[in-house]
Amino acid sequence: MIPVVDGHNDALLRVWRNGRSLRERDDEGCLDLPRMREGGIAAGFFAIFVPAQDGDPPDPRSIVVLTADGYEVPVEPPLPFERAVRIADELAAIAERDLVLVRTVAELERCLAGEETGAILHLEGAEPIEPGLGNLEAWYARGLRSLGIAWSRPNAFGHGVPFRFPGTPDTGPGLTPAGRELVRACNELGVMIDVAHLNLAGFRDVARLSDRPIVFTHGGVHALAPIPRSVTDEELDVIRDSGGLAAIVFDSVMTRGDGALVGDAPLDQVLDHVDYVAERIGVEHVALGSDFDGAHPPGALADATKVPALLDALAARGWSDDDLRALGHRNWLRVLRGTWR
Ligand SMILES: [Zn+2]
Repeated sequence: MIPVVDGHNDALLRVWRNGRSLRERDDEGCLDLPRMREGGIAAGFFAIFVPAQDGDPPDPRSIVVLTADGYEVPVEPPLPFERAVRIADELAAIAERDLVLVRTVAELERCLAGEETGAILHLEGAEPIEPGLGNLEAWYARGLRSLGIAWSRPNAFGHGVPFRFPGTPDTGPGLTPAGRELVRACNELGVMIDVAHLNLAGFRDVARLSDRPIVFTHGGVHALAPIPRSVTDEELDVIRDSGGLAAIVFDSVMTRGDGALVGDAPLDQVLDHVDYVAERIGVEHVALGSDFDGAHPPGALADATKVPALLDALAARGWSDDDLRALGHRNWLRVLRGTWR
């Protein structure tokens, strides 16, 4: 089985809500340690994401507004800093309790050798970071190795894209002065910067300021699914030129071309996005970012055990064993070697 590094999951948020453990199989969700092992996911990026409210997430159907040619979801207001810090701390404590944190490339290599199943701590939205960056080093010491500047709401550092169809990521201003400082500080510390959810002006700022590979950890491609969350051709070319990668999401809605909000997409719909990135910028710049427990995966990718089926289906499309190893983990190794200290 080819070991895979998964670019994004929201399993910490699920366990924060349901009080279970990532060490045990939890069929309420899509990803836990037993199913990572079964599916060959040697390590994954575990998101610390702070929701606006406690309790169950709102039913998407209750917040989506249908428009003449698609849909839109009202943008959430900024998160209060005190809430962001408090909830992020609770999510990080779950990671420390249940998971083995990967802090170095050598530790990631041990996971790929099958010695451990690892977790890379990722902040999805920088709200828990003080705008003066006073607590960034404390987060690094706690294991933070990856950071998405903004989720799909504005914060002190930048602006995320709204959820809507159709649309582009060209939705507003770039990084704030604090956001530009955050990019420099992450470069210096060796924290990977993730551009998923960030708008186009913010992406261009990251590309201009960062001296590390540009990484898009979970989403589809805009040429196939014209929503602001998708990565555009312009962005893909910048990612290639930086030595970075774009990781494709396992989501039925975010990979659709027609804006429909229902239905269980066929596996091929996700594979088309993987092939698109490989064909446009090369197999050395594509990866997988499931978004398990944060998205609506197709039935064929219903949980972490289904990853080998995805690799088999790509092999049937002509992907060589070497190509699949690049997709599964080699591209991540290159990017993280060029990013972490
Ligand atoms: Zn996300």
